[in-house]
Amino acid sequence: MASSRRDLAVRATVDQGLLSAAEPVVALLDTAGIRASATALTSAFAAVTDAHVLHAFAVKACPLVPVLRLLHEAGLGVEVASPGELALARAAGIPPGHTVLDSPAKTPAELRQALALGIAVNADNLQELARLDALVASAPTASPLGLRVNPQVGAGSIGALSTATATSKFGVALRDEGARKTVVQAFLERPWLTRMHTHTGSQGVPLALMAEGVGEAYALAEEINHAAGRQQIDTLDIGGGLPVNFASDEETPTYAEYARLLADTAPGLFDGRYRLVTEFGRSLLAKHGTVLARVEYTKTSGGRPIAVTHAGVQLATRTVYAPGSWPLRVLAYDSEGRPRTGEEVVQDVAGPACFAGDLLATGRALPPLRQGDVVAVPDTGAYYFAHHYAYNSLPRPGVHGFTVAEDGAVTFATVRKPQTLAEIVAESGGGEAEALVR
Ligand SMILES: *Cc1c(COP(=O)(O)O)cnc(C)c1O
Repeated sequence: MASSRRDLAVRATVDQGLLSAAEPVVALLDTAGIRASATALTSAFAAVTDAHVLHAFAVKACPLVPVLRLLHEAGLGVEVASPGELALARAAGIPPGHTVLDSPAKTPAELRQALALGIAVNADNLQELARLDALVASAPTASPLGLRVNPQVGAGSIGALSTATATSKFGVALRDEGARKTVVQAFLERPWLTRMHTHTGSQGVPLALMAEGVGEAYALAEEINHAAGRQQIDTLDIGGGLPVNFASDEETPTYAEYARLLADTAPGLFDGRYRLVTEFGRSLLAKHGTVLARVEYTKTSGGRPIAVTHAGVQLATRTVYAPGSWPLRVLAYDSEGRPRTGEEVVQDVAGPACFAGDLLATGRALPPLRQGDVVAVPDTGAYYFAHHYAYNSLPRPGVHGFTVAEDGAVTFATVRKPQTLAEIVAESGGGEAEALVR
């Protein structure tokens, strides 16, 4: 269903002139798909618990204001990790009570603003707790406050995205000598510290390891509440990290599987004594984004066919620099936006940037691409086209949401306008041309 919607959308971008020789790369978001993922998430947890759950979308996965607004209407909150992300959330109209601030390097000014706004804050470490001590003493706040712990359960298959290793930079490392005792004491000394936060992983981390990390945080919360003689910790923030299948259109693993696994691993998590916060990012958006790019030229080099397109490192940075960890599918369409069929040949799909490694796919079997064809790169709704990398001063592409009516008619809504050359010049010191020769 998602794939047939995508085929209709590709055709319509060509028909309606969104993708053209003049505008050779665009990004699409499947509005119905995003809504469906939000519903899948809320219903997966509702099926295993009556507890209050705030599903806070990790803004970094898709920092676009209309996306945050759509998710807010679907009942989700946001997790922010910088002043910029907080500004986006506020621009989207997300209420403070639905906003959670995490990040490893919050400045005193950021903390002060968060407490003034009343948004939830998870301290990353003991030095940050000391800053919170001073702020809490100086003015009353509505902000729920928590501490992030690292259960040190181990890594998944992608080191850069494994947040709960023995030496991860995030949270208080629980298994380090004396750390657990220090954390318990930190809570007992601060009656206002009412949340426990952990985020075990991300792409490449197996579900069982994620559940183990959550189970460790839950066990620690139980220990602290027991020592406090009351339900001091009333909220567990279990992070995000559900991995995404980049190999096909199948959405696997599912939120329902993960929620059931959590219920089996730590049944007490869901028995109603704790409120819950989740922070999923990639799994909510990845499947619903597609980059479309025109094939500008085709050639052969060393006998291998190469299609030179307008989508490369500027939109698929991780894939270009770490293709082994981040393979993406490439789908072939003709110049009218109809799926290309025909006998596959092994070819490279290159981007527009001026370095040899700017390849979306190497040695990939695809129907032979021709000049003017369209390539689609699915599964790019999270951490791809919204995370522009300004190599070669390539512009940020326009992002358009689409909906498909029952008769197949496709309607687009602009989510982000394409960046203009004037904007590139202005952001590149265009207003200070004389600065170094004055
Ligand atoms: C990045 C991040 C998330 C979201 O991770 P996904 O893998 O995109 O689901 C959630 N919480 C924290 C603290 C993060 O840093």
